[in-house]
Amino acid sequence: MRASIACRTCGAEHASASHKAGAGKTGCPYEGLAYFDLRAGHDRIYFGRWRKMDAGPSDIVRAYHQIGRHLRSIDRALGDKDLPAARRDLEKAADAYHSGDPGADSREAFRFMDHALSYAHRAIDDLLHEIGLPSHAPMDFAEWYDAVEVPFRDEW
Ligand SMILES: [Zn+2]
Repeated sequence: MRASIACRTCGAEHASASHKAGAGKTGCPYEGLAYFDLRAGHDRIYFGRWRKMDAGPSDIVRAYHQIGRHLRSIDRALGDKDLPAARRDLEKAADAYHSGDPGADSREAFRFMDHALSYAHRAIDDLLHEIGLPSHAPMDFAEWYDAVEVPFRDEW
């Protein structure tokens, strides 16, 4: 497993080879994008170890806390914007998050956390659509993460 360090631009732990296509001056693929911090915040969780076959309980707990922080970041970005759809998506994300405390059944927690992340993604898309931009596509950034090394538990 490659050691990742948090990017100084976006805070996510992604590869930072500056020769890669699509990288900004800092070697960060999110640099200069609208809501880059929310995109990076989403993807660091989306491509995180907790979703991999070999994830341990500590990976799940860590991801749970990351999701909580991520939802608070989206809430701050929403501010007092008049975006009812985004607010609804964020509320659904928060509901799933609170149902998914990994202190209990970890399989159940995984499912709720996955839902929380999906709704968070929708809220980010709502913010992007408001300013006329297309949805955020995590797979466009997959090569920056260790995503391809271990299969995801998509069948859960
Ligand atoms: Zn970055």
